[in-house]
Amino acid sequence: MKHYNLTINGETKDHHDYFDVINPATAEPFARSAKADAADVNRAVAAASNAFASWSTTPMAERSNLLHQVAALVEQHMPELMELIVQETGKPLNGLNGVGAGMEVGGAAAWIHVNADVTLPVEVIQDNDDARVEVHRKALGVVASITPWNWPLLIAAWHLTPALLAGNTVVIKPSPFTPITTARFVELANTVLPPGVLNLISGGPELGATLVEHPDVAKIVFTGSTTTGKHIMRSAATDLKRLTLELGGNDAGIVLDDVDPKAVAARLVSACFHNNGQTCAALKRLYVPSGIYHQLAQEMADLAAKLIVGNGLAQGVDLGPVQNERQLQIVMDLAESARQDGGHFLCGGERIDSKGYFYRPTIVTGLSNGHRLVDEEPFGPIVPIIEYQDLEQAIAMANDNPCGLGASVWSTDTARALAVATRLHSGSVWINEHGAVQPDAPFGGVKQSGFGVEFGHHGLAEFSAIQTVKIMK
Ligand code: NAD
Repeated sequence: MKHYNLTINGETKDHHDYFDVINPATAEPFARSAKADAADVNRAVAAASNAFASWSTTPMAERSNLLHQVAALVEQHMPELMELIVQETGKPLNGLNGVGAGMEVGGAAAWIHVNADVTLPVEVIQDNDDARVEVHRKALGVVASITPWNWPLLIAAWHLTPALLAGNTVVIKPSPFTPITTARFVELANTVLPPGVLNLISGGPELGATLVEHPDVAKIVFTGSTTTGKHIMRSAATDLKRLTLELGGNDAGIVLDDVDPKAVAARLVSACFHNNGQTCAALKRLYVPSGIYHQLAQEMADLAAKLIVGNGLAQGVDLGPVQNERQLQIVMDLAESARQDGGHFLCGGERIDSKGYFYRPTIVTGLSNGHRLVDEEPFGPIVPIIEYQDLEQAIAMANDNPCGLGASVWSTDTARALAVATRLHSGSVWINEHGAVQPDAPFGGVKQSGFGVEFGHHGLAEFSAIQTVKIMK
């Protein structure tokens, strides 16, 4: 089995300790990752601290140029990285609506290219006979990046591109479920970046905690669950570390009564089930008016039942397995609670007989807010469709959740949809679409989905501190 190593100070060396990484399609290990310890954290943070002086004073245009070279390496190694993504995440090479390993690897390269060209210009607040006042943006220092297992390479690219472009150095810790592609990517990136600028350590939650507690870390960018986000925020208080927290979502969609069920069913199924529902901003609760409730739910169930679930390396597969056994258990527990709450399963509701963590795409009707399947994020292939009588009730139910990542409104009347959309408590809202992010538009959560945004100039600014400069005339 192939071994993947830590990269510290530009060196990728054999380690004394490794752990198995499981392929969720087979439930068997397919690779081994080096297992970092506290001494490795210290070495990685020291390497990043030492590299900071020179990297933060390297002209931004040169840092941008090196990031474009990193993106080009991703493009050159696309087949290898895609296969690793399929093996560690389970997602198909292409997948439902083109959402798969190809999108992840191609998207990572595209995100780096677009965001490497964003700038942080000096802002002039005042320039008159008395004084000139300028706002400069300065790098923070060492950034700790902690990533989840659903989009490991893409989210790594989201974190490290603005962090490095702004002049910070980075220590990244991927999820122990999916450390392999990130390890290979960081190894490749280190063939063009100076030593110590981008370091990788690999291990579990304890290692993440050790990294974020390190006193020489200036900022933490974290994508993962709300529970872990709260732990990190508490630990960051010790040194007042800066934070970007991209946390859990339980995104609502509201269908308005002018919609033709046949016309939207396929797009809704894709919004709910792409990447097997394991996307932070997937559609996770759908509110539908009584007049079209049963027809739309049935149209969606008919389509969901036809999705091809299988090993992501096989051609034509729409959905792979759930990424890990723990997440599969969460999905099965929520399905069981939906059954006990009187939910009606229009499709799915069971595991697929296999060693892998496969679960049938599942649509449940007859539930409402207050039931666990509606209130909690399943982060898997199970979606409740909830009936509403009047629109005010639907808006209230959509907003009645601690999360506030994304939301959507579906209608043929854009003005009416927009009036509803702007009343939803979410960091992003889509009309006749759900979950589509793009590299130049800010993305982030409100409420317990976190704070701070990623992408574009708003995202880049998060990796800098303001220095106001006043020059007396
Ligand atoms: P998780 O919180 O269990 O783990 C995420 C990462 O945090 C892993 O690398 C883990 O090892 C590390 N970690 C765990 N405890 C830690 C601690 N105390 N200190 C530091 N690091 C620690 O999340 P997950 O199960 O990997 O991911 C699924 C969750 O992520 C879902 O809730 C999903 O909605 C969310 N998510 C959010 C976004 C977003 O942009 N908002 C994107 C993707 C996923």
